Amino acid sequence: MVTLEYLVQYAKQTGFIFQGSEIYGGLANTWDYGPLGVNLKKNIKEAWTKKFLRQGPNIVGLDSSILLNPMVWQASGHLQGFSDPLIENRQSNQRYRADKLILAHDPTQKPDGWTYEEMYDYIMKHQIKDPVSKTHDWLPIRKFNMMFKTFQGVIEDTASEVYLRPETAQGIFINFKNIQRATRKKVPFGVAQIGKSFRNEITPGNFIFRTREFEQMELEFFCKPGTELEWFDFWLNYMQSFLTNLGIKKEYLRAEPHAKEALSHYSNATTDIEFKYPWGFDELWGLASRTSFDLTQHMNLSKEDLTYLDPETNERYVPYVVEPAVGVERLALVFLFNGLEEETLEGGDSRQLLKIHPALAPYKAAILPLVKKEHGEKANLIYEMLAESFDVVYDETQNIGKRYRRQDAIGTPFCITVDHQTMTDETVTIRHRDSMLQERMAIKDLESFIRNSVKF
Ligand code: ATP
Repeated sequence: MVTLEYLVQYAKQTGFIFQGSEIYGGLANTWDYGPLGVNLKKNIKEAWTKKFLRQGPNIVGLDSSILLNPMVWQASGHLQGFSDPLIENRQSNQRYRADKLILAHDPTQKPDGWTYEEMYDYIMKHQIKDPVSKTHDWLPIRKFNMMFKTFQGVIEDTASEVYLRPETAQGIFINFKNIQRATRKKVPFGVAQIGKSFRNEITPGNFIFRTREFEQMELEFFCKPGTELEWFDFWLNYMQSFLTNLGIKKEYLRAEPHAKEALSHYSNATTDIEFKYPWGFDELWGLASRTSFDLTQHMNLSKEDLTYLDPETNERYVPYVVEPAVGVERLALVFLFNGLEEETLEGGDSRQLLKIHPALAPYKAAILPLVKKEHGEKANLIYEMLAESFDVVYDETQNIGKRYRRQDAIGTPFCITVDHQTMTDETVTIRHRDSMLQERMAIKDLESFIRNSVKF
């Protein structure tokens, strides 16, 4: 696997990801998605939408607001409890997440389930040092709420405080009744949502792994109490298949169930799917069985009836919820790490290669006229034909070998070359990214060929 530094450099050069506000010296831990990044993120969201929404079991969509009534965050527990253990070094004033500091010292520890005192004791006992001041002169651990606060309204004194959502899930819970009524869905059913979330993380970093602004893809799956653990297994399998069907190597993945002591008070099962990043295994995708906690909390605070009447048994209950939640950028990072390599070729040459599933590739094909003057017009017609259905790119600069290499590096699965033969028999050569093999194909077959290749 390439290093983190290599990937950051690559992402900038190719146009996947740029540093945010770069011409002003940047803004720490913000990233802008360039031409290729936009396509990659779009394709990830489309792939998730296809599998989790369109083809999932009884799933519908939602797009709720980023700004919600603050009561929502009171009910969900975010106002009181959405905090991380912050520890500050007296000498350097550097701040860290205490649990992450412990894990960096010893990855086998499980600080998630510890009290703040236990974390502090561990840090002091093992004399864990601040990498900046090199001392272990730590202030006691404090609770740090990660919600971003802002103001709504035009006059400052009367403007009311609101929060940017730290997860999209609550927008789904507060619309449970609306959705159920409007769609007449019977439990079990799910609601899928993609949207931005914001968390004032104490230690963002590792490129786009942890940022303060990110996009989440969350599914809240409502089921009958008592069936949640079966659904939990179903979704865990579903998530794993999604990843491996899109080419993530099995050896880079592992499922880590949270220990009973480390579970959130409302959860009766939580498992993280972890990926082997260059810094070790770390979270990619969370799966949580959240019981009826959220709906019950909202029912208590809003006084709205959020129960469900089972039309078959006439039983009335508050549905249980199973939630797979993942970040779009986290997945983008994983697909880049999983696919990017420097391949050594026969004869000692090497090429940069992004092995990414055609469904996710920023461009499905590159259309290349062998000689611009003679084949440019025809190549343009093919480009226009394919652009009806796919993201494709046209390239007529430099020799054909260099053009192939450029496309290999950005993951374009097929290069379509228009040459002298095309002008007489309406065929092109199609070169495969991974094998570099070429075959002849009729222009009229290109669209269905590409359409088949993006299936997963
Ligand atoms: P951690 O404990 O590492 O802070 P978490 O367990 O709180 O993460 P969840 O609340 O389960 O994370 O979030 C669900 C998913 O959203 C994560 O698996 C990850 O893919 C994504 N995600 C969460 N926080 C961030 C972030 N700050 N930046 C990017 N993606 C994030």
